[in-house]
Amino acid sequence: MFDSDLQAKGAPRTRRMFLASAATTLGGLALWSWKKSRTVEVAAAAGAPQEVTIVQFSDSGERLKMVHVTKVVKSEAEWRKQLSSNAFDITRHADTEIAFSGKYWDLHDKGIFRCICCDNALFSSETKFDSGTGWPSFWAPLAAENVTEIRDTAFGMVRTALACTQCDAHLGHVFDDGPEPTHLRYCMNSASLRFVPKSLNR
Ligand SMILES: [Zn+2]
Repeated sequence: MFDSDLQAKGAPRTRRMFLASAATTLGGLALWSWKKSRTVEVAAAAGAPQEVTIVQFSDSGERLKMVHVTKVVKSEAEWRKQLSSNAFDITRHADTEIAFSGKYWDLHDKGIFRCICCDNALFSSETKFDSGTGWPSFWAPLAAENVTEIRDTAFGMVRTALACTQCDAHLGHVFDDGPEPTHLRYCMNSASLRFVPKSLNR
């Protein structure tokens, strides 16, 4: 039920009074709408639950459906408890693992890579390639919706950082020197990912 319905029911019966009341109601509605939009902005700024759109995938890499989910928001202490210190530094504070030190740069098994923080499906072995950089590299994410590109100007460079759409975990960076067909190189940190081998899920 709308506010106008409530107000109309309680409005005086004469036509003149009704018109006056309607004008007031319209003015009130405009003010109410403005206040509401302001409230939404303030709530978002204060860290209220935010909805994001992602695509769900099965562990065997099958695209399931697009869903609207509440963004995963946790405190520093909660993330620290859940993650290894290395994964915490990388995903929550945009650190980078040392090249050739991670679990997945030289992994050639079939499967998918989920976010270490929230399990969002991020990459597939289908698009993984050997970049020679010492970091797991892909030429495309599983779904564009599941990752978010962020302009990164740290260390005096302009780069494109990549974050998990569902939880804002820092994943790595995207460069435009990748192979066919996209010519993109999604240079990821192993510590931001959790590999799910295909053979275990049949
Ligand atoms: Zn995530």
